[in-house]
Amino acid sequence: MVGRLGSAGVICDAKVRRAMLAVERHLFLPDSMREVAYIDRPLDIGHGQTISAPHMVAIMASMLDLSPGMRVLEVGGGSGYHAAVMAELVRPGGKVFSIERIEGLARTAKANLARSGHDDVVQVLIGDGSKGLPEEAPFDRISVAAAAPDVPEPLIEQLADGGMLLIPVGGALSQELMMIRKVGGKIIKKKVCGVMFVPLVGEHGHNV
Ligand code: SAM
Repeated sequence: MVGRLGSAGVICDAKVRRAMLAVERHLFLPDSMREVAYIDRPLDIGHGQTISAPHMVAIMASMLDLSPGMRVLEVGGGSGYHAAVMAELVRPGGKVFSIERIEGLARTAKANLARSGHDDVVQVLIGDGSKGLPEEAPFDRISVAAAAPDVPEPLIEQLADGGMLLIPVGGALSQELMMIRKVGGKIIKKKVCGVMFVPLVGEHGHNV
């Protein structure tokens, strides 16, 4: 799968390629889904949610230019797969805080990350990630895997200077992936491309 994504020009960054190869996606899915685990598509993980498509994980990880030692906030942890790929990139010395609002998914993600060997880097938390995680801020990078109506203000506040935030913004029919950079206290927002994510539900997200 990683080879195919490389040939298709989706993975151009060698460190992202290494990270994608190091994380076995089938470990983040039930055993009954092993046969489809390496198809480049979002897949059902229960509770009406999906594991992200590998090409989207690779694109987001490349854009965030993750490197060892960084502190990362992930909003919408789902299965834990995307967090594991980011963990590979911030090792050694880095940390990924992954917030998931659905308790059952967060528990499974924790177990998945333990069996894939990423629980030393990734801390899974249950809660409304649209509010960020003020007690662990600031973050060098923030990666959001659910679409918000607007960029949540707390996430911008919790971004370190020089930091980057990647977030899908929009509704059920149309969304844009947005890159937000904080440079010298100034906020620079840029549209990246059209995407389709599940909604970010919470205080600074969509209503339930
Ligand atoms: N990247 C994940 C993976 O690889 O498995 C998949 C993420 S899935 C597309 C989006 C997740 O965001 C869902 O699990 C959903 O429950 C979660 N979510 C939605 N709103 C949230 C919020 N306010 N805080 C935390 N998680 C949220």
